[in-house]
Amino acid sequence: MARIPDSEIERLKKEVPVERLVMGFGVELNKHGAEWIGTCPFHEDKTPSLVVSLKTNLWHCLGACNVGGSTIDWVMKTKGVSFRHAVELLRADHSSLAAGEARVVKKGTTAKLDAPVKAEADDQEALRQVVAYYHQTLKESPEALRYLESRGLTHPEMLERFQIGFANRTLGYRLPDKNRKEGAELRGRLQTLGIIRESGHEHFMGSIVFPVISLEGFVTEMYGRKITAGLRVGTPLHTYLPGPHRGGTRKRCWRRRKSSCASRSSTR
Ligand SMILES: [Zn+2]
Repeated sequence: MARIPDSEIERLKKEVPVERLVMGFGVELNKHGAEWIGTCPFHEDKTPSLVVSLKTNLWHCLGACNVGGSTIDWVMKTKGVSFRHAVELLRADHSSLAAGEARVVKKGTTAKLDAPVKAEADDQEALRQVVAYYHQTLKESPEALRYLESRGLTHPEMLERFQIGFANRTLGYRLPDKNRKEGAELRGRLQTLGIIRESGHEHFMGSIVFPVISLEGFVTEMYGRKITAGLRVGTPLHTYLPGPHRGGTRKRCWRRRKSSCASRSSTR
């Protein structure tokens, strides 16, 4: 593929209004002096810590994530895509807007990436696809990697082998819309599996996710550890998939194996 010219990248950083992307992701922004603020969608934000500057066209979370950047960074973060892919999505979106077609831009058709969970997947496959998606997200989330590092869990081979992941609510965003038949069905199934709650939120939102995978390759359990600072009092730090815990034996096995890779347990 041809290289994207720097001038094009600069143009997308400047011309695509960052507040449109942020609001398009469902964040309500309020004017605050020269800036706009809203609750950060990447951590459980009680006091609005997402700052959007209309002047510089940049965004920044001043809370737990302490991340920010340009329009391109926003797309990378919310859609879990590479720099190049984010540029292409913005380009596609922006050129149709510039051509006066704003009203026919359908997020679901022009720019949507493949859903991380496929409609035709059976339950096990769906769980495996969720695990794979969370694992990919972890590798692209500095805040999650920082947390693991703080607990002494840095071995890349261990992260890979145990498919450790991070749920930052982008999964839901990447699924087909709930008002489309395909989206409603898929979301319904993920709800039955415990990945999505009745509220529509991801069960493990804001958590490092440790799947328990049997020797046969079945996902028998998932365990999440919240990593966000400043959670509401009483918010459980540790969550499991709802329903009977199926992975007791395997989990012990996992813990034992993990201890040979890392000196400290992440479950404390
Ligand atoms: Zn944040």
